[in-house]
Amino acid sequence: MIKVNVAEIRKHLTGTKLLRFEAEPAELDITETELPIIGKVRIEGDITNVGDVLLLKALVSARVNRLCSRCLKEFSADSVAEVLEKYYPSGSPGVETDAYVYESDVVDITEPLREGLLLAEPLRVLCKEDCLGICPVCGADRNVHPCSCNTVTVDPRLAALKQFIK
Ligand SMILES: [Zn+2]
Ligand SMILES: [Zn+2]
Repeated sequence: MIKVNVAEIRKHLTGTKLLRFEAEPAELDITETELPIIGKVRIEGDITNVGDVLLLKALVSARVNRLCSRCLKEFSADSVAEVLEKYYPSGSPGVETDAYVYESDVVDITEPLREGLLLAEPLRVLCKEDCLGICPVCGADRNVHPCSCNTVTVDPRLAALKQFIK
């Protein structure tokens, strides 16, 4: 869990606390199966007192292991998430039930950092935009070994027509 003491910045409007640190994935409640992070997670940003709420702005980044969904190659890439969240003092009126709240002078920023990084992962991972993938006929990685297999399935009616023309 990552908690930030905001006692100082609550004393005056626009009070800001800079955030610049590294954290273990476990501190953000991120498991290896959720996101295979290499090394630590970097967090850079700030928490600002904007009056009614505290505003968390942060850039969360980590090196992650990915698996190309076309050629099944493993590779690593940088994942970056922008986090922007409001924190309400607990018990303040009209606050939605799913809003982040804080008690006394401690803000727990674990959840938005965690969610930000998990949501930054693309659903469909490609090692490169034009990855050629694996040949369905011979199984070769076509990025490395271009093969000459015929992977275009021929429409049987068209084949019959060709036969007829002959
Ligand atoms: Zn690939
Ligand atoms: Zn092939």
